[in-house]
Amino acid sequence: MNLHEYQSRNLLNKFSINFPKGEVGSTPNEIYQIVKKFNSEVVVKAQIHSGGRGKAGGVKICKTAVDAKKFASELIGKRIVTTHTDSDGVIVEKLLVTELTNIKKEIYLSIVIDPDIESPVMIASSEGGMDIEKIAEDSPEKIIKIVFDSVLGLKPYQIRRVTNSLGIPKNSIPEFYNLVNNLYKAFIETDSTLIEINPLVIDENENLIPLDCKINIDDDSQFRQKAIFELRDKNQENPMETRAKDFDLAYVKLDKGNVGCMVNGAGLAMATMDVTTKSGCFPANFLDVGGSTDKEKIKEAFRILVSDKKVEYLLINLFAGIARADLIAEGVVEAAKETSFNLPIIICMRGTNSGVGFKIFNDSTLDIHIADNLGHAAELLASVSSGN
Ligand code: GDP
Ligand code: MN
Repeated sequence: MNLHEYQSRNLLNKFSINFPKGEVGSTPNEIYQIVKKFNSEVVVKAQIHSGGRGKAGGVKICKTAVDAKKFASELIGKRIVTTHTDSDGVIVEKLLVTELTNIKKEIYLSIVIDPDIESPVMIASSEGGMDIEKIAEDSPEKIIKIVFDSVLGLKPYQIRRVTNSLGIPKNSIPEFYNLVNNLYKAFIETDSTLIEINPLVIDENENLIPLDCKINIDDDSQFRQKAIFELRDKNQENPMETRAKDFDLAYVKLDKGNVGCMVNGAGLAMATMDVTTKSGCFPANFLDVGGSTDKEKIKEAFRILVSDKKVEYLLINLFAGIARADLIAEGVVEAAKETSFNLPIIICMRGTNSGVGFKIFNDSTLDIHIADNLGHAAELLASVSSGN
């Protein structure tokens, strides 16, 4: 689950990580009042579940309350498209006003789980700020990565390596040391999968000041992070992904494809996406209905898939183990009828009661193409999509 910047700031405050003074408002008038109260130059920032706001026009330095109010009225209620969002973007409902900090140097600092080594790692760069993605691409040597000892945390010699390569001034090293340790504590205690501070600023007095932060919490930790999960903002999520989550379906909408994929098991879903691409088409989504799926779940998955207007074909690739192929087939046929779906459906299905399942499909009026295996499914997909 993603948190907003203002929520992440509040959370990190509890771990003695302090940000410049800030306050959230959701109307131009509230923003005006906040700036009046601060009585200083401010930065006004769109609160959305996305990075890259600066480049997308979602962050502005405002000299006066009137400027800030004007910026707020242009932004609130609008959708912002960044390099991190899909082409629909995300809605701005709140703005964070912070006191302006003078920047001498911008550093990138994050803690993230590296799944390859099953451990938290620290990623840092002396070239923080809005171009960090470009730096990672063009000059990866400027990004350093350090592995945490999962019991002991970062060791002093490791932190020295970081401070050297980031060019942290000598006077600021103890502060940096504290910051890293507090961040790591926060990372572990909040079940984060990512805490990112970008930029971490060094000001002209050599103070270290975090200006932006982004936290991602492990969805599987909901049972013990109840207070944090109260902060969930469903308005920032793709509505279909939210609906899928409510049905315990793993659905991710993809930007460019036109093949709706219904699959059970994440591994099979990945393979299905590869096969779709091999056929010359692109998957419109990733949808894993899970191993022990039932008819209702299949129907909901179908409705979600076909509500995507980009979908022109369906590829259903299911292994009926605990789930029964006949119930899956009934679910698909009923949901197709309910949604008046008449586009081609390629079906690759194995397992329990698959014979009955195929009969249900063949007896239906749907445009069904049965595949013997996944390779055959790719061939069928290539042929229906090329109109042969
Ligand atoms: P992001 O683009 O979504 O990562 O949003 P940020 O909150 O990181 O803001 C983008 C950029 O705005 C930062 O990299 C800074 O260069 C600039 N910025 C943000 N806050 C301040 C501030 O207090 N003072 C100054 N001078 N620049 C700021
Ligand atoms: Mn940032």
